[in-house]
Amino acid sequence: MRLYIVLLGPPGAGKGTQAERLSKARGIAHVSSGDIFRENIKNQTELGTQVKDILDRGDLVLDDLTIAMIRDRLKRADCEMGAVLDGFPRNPAQADALEVMLAEFDGQVDVVPYIQVPRDELISRLSGRWTCRAEGHIFHATFNPPQVEGVCDHDGSELYQREDDKRETVERRISVYLEQTAPLIDYYRGKGKLVEIDGNQAIDAVTSDLLAAMPEQGD
Ligand code: ADP
Ligand code: AMP
Repeated sequence: MRLYIVLLGPPGAGKGTQAERLSKARGIAHVSSGDIFRENIKNQTELGTQVKDILDRGDLVLDDLTIAMIRDRLKRADCEMGAVLDGFPRNPAQADALEVMLAEFDGQVDVVPYIQVPRDELISRLSGRWTCRAEGHIFHATFNPPQVEGVCDHDGSELYQREDDKRETVERRISVYLEQTAPLIDYYRGKGKLVEIDGNQAIDAVTSDLLAAMPEQGD
C-alpha cells in the first residue's frame, strides 16, 4: 500500500525539515509545493514567471495551477510508494482535489500530523532560516546551523535567505495561513486523520513524535 502523509502547520512550524526526515525514514517521496514553485522561478519557466510575484507577496497561487502541478508530481515514479506532502493542500478546495486524485491512484490521505508552534517562535525560526539553492535543504542560523556557514551540508550548494522570509511577508503568510489553511485542522480532524504534534521542541524530539504517529509499515 502507498503511504500518503499530509504535514499541516503554520509557516516555520518545521514541515520541510521534518518532511525530509520522514521521507528518508519511510522511503517515500518528499513533495513540497513551495519547492516546486521556487525551482520554476529559479529556472524562469512559464509557471515560474506566473507565480513569482505571488510568492514574493506571500499570497497563495491559484488552486487550478497548484492542483495540476501536484497531480503531475504525484504521478512520477519516485512517488510509487507514496509521499510526504509539505505545503499542499493549503485550503479545503485543494484538500478535496487531493482526495479525488489519490483515489485515482488507489490511495488516500493516511495521516495528517498538525505541527503546533507558538507565533513568536515562528518569527524567530523564519528570520534565521537558510535554504539551499540546489535542493531546498533547510538550516537555521542558530537552531540548526550548517557545518560551514553559507554552504549546504548535503550538496555543497550555496545557502540563501528566502525573499518571503522578510518580516512583513512572514506576517502576511501567517495571516494567509490562519484565514485559508487553518480550516484544514477541523477538516482532517472530522475525518479522524489529524494527529497533534508539539512542534515547540528540539528537531529530533519532533521527529520521534512524528514517527510514533505513523501507521505501522505494512498496515
Ligand atoms: P516550514 O516548512 O513549516 O515553513 P521549516 O522546516 O523550513 O518550516 O523550518 C523553519 C525554520 O525553523 C528553519 O530554519 C529550520 O531549520 C528551523 N526549525 C525547524 N524545526 C525546528 C525546531 N524543532 N526547533 C528549532 N528550529 C527549527
Ligand atoms: P512554502 O514553501 O510552503 O512556505 O510556500 C511558499 C509559497 O509558495 C507560499 O507562500 C505560496 O505563495 C506558494 N504555495 C506553496 N504551496 C501552495 C499551495 N498549496 N497553494 C497555493 N500556493 C502555494
